[in-house]
Amino acid sequence: MPLYEFKCLDCCHDFEKLILKTSQTSEVMCPVCRSRRIEEKFSTFASSSSSKSVAANKANCAPSGG
Ligand SMILES: [Zn+2]
Repeated sequence: MPLYEFKCLDCCHDFEKLILKTSQTSEVMCPVCRSRRIEEKFSTFASSSSSKSVAANKANCAPSGG
């Protein structure tokens, strides 16, 4: 099933979206704040090397709530 996980870099909202074409990922926006700053989450690729960039992105994220 082409269900992708995304995370909003502005409000840190996690959501899933059905993506039929890879190009559609660029059109995804946050359902909460309508931000285009979306990060695609690859839960299948649980690699230790990717945790670096994730930590860097989390630093810019505000805590949930509000
Ligand atoms: Zn958002």
